[in-house]
This record gives sequence, structure tokens and C-alpha cells, in this order.
Amino acid sequence: MRFVSTRGTASPVSFSEAAARGLAPDGGLYAPEALPRTLAVATASLPETAQALLAPFFAGDALEASLPEIVREAFNFPVRLAAPPGADFDILELFYGPTAAFKDFGARFLAAAFSRGRAGSRRSMHVLVATSGDTGGAVASAFHNRPHVRVSVLYPRGMVSPAQERQLTCWGDNVTAYSVQGTFDDCQRLVKAAFGDPHIYGKEDLSSANSINIGRLLPQMCYFAWSSCRIQTDLGVKANFVIPSGNLGHATACIWAREMGCPVGEIVLAHNANRTMPDYIDSGVWRPRPSVRTLASAMDVGDPSNAERLRFLFPTAEAMRRMVRACSIDDDGICSATREAFERHGAILCPHTAAGYAALKLMRGAATGRWVITATAHAAKFPEIVEPLIGERVGIPPALAALPPARNPVEIEANLDAFVRHARA
Ligand SMILES: *Cc1c(COP(=O)(O)O)cnc(C)c1O
Repeated sequence: MRFVSTRGTASPVSFSEAAARGLAPDGGLYAPEALPRTLAVATASLPETAQALLAPFFAGDALEASLPEIVREAFNFPVRLAAPPGADFDILELFYGPTAAFKDFGARFLAAAFSRGRAGSRRSMHVLVATSGDTGGAVASAFHNRPHVRVSVLYPRGMVSPAQERQLTCWGDNVTAYSVQGTFDDCQRLVKAAFGDPHIYGKEDLSSANSINIGRLLPQMCYFAWSSCRIQTDLGVKANFVIPSGNLGHATACIWAREMGCPVGEIVLAHNANRTMPDYIDSGVWRPRPSVRTLASAMDVGDPSNAERLRFLFPTAEAMRRMVRACSIDDDGICSATREAFERHGAILCPHTAAGYAALKLMRGAATGRWVITATAHAAKFPEIVEPLIGERVGIPPALAALPPARNPVEIEANLDAFVRHARA
């Protein structure tokens, strides 16, 4: 399998190369040349599903023989699919990994692939990652203390929750956290710009662990495949997913899984007040804008990079409209959804998942099939928001409790010089 650039002028590459580069040389994002039809195995475990689903993407790749090991290492924590009491929908809980958000799947897969792919290389690798909150912690945790690799995490100062900030800054060793005076979009812009600056390379190879990296998106398809097959087997219907969305990586993975033949029906994207994607679907005009700050901070993205992958697959707004629906839930909607899910179903949702709950009520309409809300993070990452709304303490999962204490980040202005001065090799 080869991966092509969404901008069409870079030459096609293997998975290993696409993952090592992050961004294609023509500035585009890598996407599979074709999406293989898969024989989804309804009775399989999540790692078995992952192995079957991902094998065609690794055919002929340097890592082909290592895929079973990579899958075993990355998918070593559970997902849960269950209906809360009194609900006619399921919640797919993706937050049982080391940093309690779904980003652990992609980050752990990428780290496992990099450490095998680079085993014979003499050059070390510098991984850059911009984060609106959860990606950075997941990537830092996955790469911490791995040999021959260091990680620079850039996050917007004051726009991540205290629990998230701890997960970004607690590592030390080969992980450096940068607190950037700017927004997530500024951080993302800095990472993209750094790739064009020769000063930062030194003797290292540079890569990115953002969801522009294909190595993070492919593993995210697996739990959509696994859960939709289970629903098909148990209930005989397709699964409709509500996906709390920001940079649209999760949405891309779900759409790819459906294109591969997984029994997925409708896909509804739940955005917060950053409404670039819902507005595009309504109006047909793609108008990126500065991100605005919301309670669901990991979705505060005004210029979602993976839209380029979606528009590569569905070039017109009309085509996109047939594939997904999208809505925007403001902070009031997030708050009332958090309260209601708790009062009606005893479900304790993080603000992102609460946007999904609100979106389900707004958008479910007459669609047949079983609805599934994708729970993207554990509520314990946002206690200062969730606890006052439900009037109860949120229990802390053991993985989060075990993290080292926060440390001081490197504070920089949102410009390339400031970043390169600190981060150069
Ligand atoms: C990253 C994230 C999202 C948004 O996912 P995208 O792939 O960026 O659309 C939603 N919720 C949480 C908790 C996240 O960390």
C-alpha cells in the first residue's frame, strides 16, 4: 500500500516513510492511495480487529512483519461499549489508556512504530507536537524515555486544564513542554513552520506526532470497526457515531473505516463553538478562522488540518454533506448536557463527550441503527468544569493518579525564532 499527498505533487510513499515525514514535501497530508475493502471479523477482540484492518496498509512496508507486535503494544488497554442505565444509545469509552483520552491509541501506535522503524538508524529523531490539551500528554507518555528520540510539546498557555497541563509538563528527560503565548492554531502553525527552518534539524530527523501524521489516524479506525461489528452482530443494525470533533482526525478515521466496509451508518460531528466545519457543510464555503476558547478545549480548533484529508476524499460540499452531518454546541449546551446525562443516566461525561450528548439529541432524527456517542476523554481530566455541574466529585482513574507532579514548562512567544532558539539540536 502506498500513501499519496492530498496536494498531489509529492511522490507516493510507504507507511513508514509517510509516518516518519508527518507532512508530505508538497505541504499536503498523506492519505491511503486506496481504501481496501475489509472482511471485518465480528467476534474478534480489539487487537485482532486492529491486526486484520491494518494489515493491508502495511503490505510491502519495512514494518510489515512488526505489525503484530506494534498492535499488541499499542492496544494494551480496554475500550468499553455499553448503554448507560435507561439510555437507548451506547457510549464508546476510549479513555482507559495512560493519559485518559483516546489520543493514547494513536500516540502509542506511532511510538511503537517509530521505535521499531528506527532501530537501525544512527540519527536520532525529534518529534514535534502541537496540542490543544490531550495529544501532547498522550505523545509525551508514549515516547517518554524511549532511546534516540526527543519530543517537543507546544501548548497554548492558560488554555488547557490543570490536569492536562500536568500531563504535558510532568515528564522531563527526553520530553520538553513549551507553554506558548498564543492559541492552539498558533502552536500548530509553529510546528508547520519549524519543518521549513533548517536551523532546527541539526543532526536529527524531524517528525510530527500531530493528527496530520498518518501513523496516528490508522489505529483510530480500529475501535470504530470493532464496535460497529459488535453492534451489527448483537443487534443486527449499523452503528451511527457521534464524534466530538476539533481537528477532524477522529472523524477522518471513522469515515475511512466506513469506506472500508465496516457497518457504520450515519456519522455526526459534534463541534463546540468553533464552527468552521458545521458552517462549511451548511454553506459550502470553507472559512477557517481564529479558534475561540470553550469548555471543550481539546476541540478549540478554528482551522482543522484534517479537513484537507476529508476534502481530498469528498471534494465538494455537496459530496461532504452526503457523508457526514455536523453541528456546533456552545458552552451553555455543553453544561446542560453534562447535567442532563448525569441526572437521567448517571453518566459522568467530559465536556467534549457532553457536546456529543447534546449533538445526539439535536441530530438523531429518524435515522435507523444504533447510536453511539464516542467518549473521548475521562471526566477526571476536567474536574473544575464537571464537578460543579453534577454536584459530585469525579473519581480519578489509577493511571492519572500515578503521574509525576507538574514541572515548569519553557515559556515562549508564538514565533518561530523563539521556538527554534530553545529547541534546536
Ligand atoms: C482531540 C480530542 C477531540 C477532537 O478530536 P479530533 O481528532 O481533533 O477531531 C475531542 N475530544 C477530546 C477529549 C480530544 O482530546
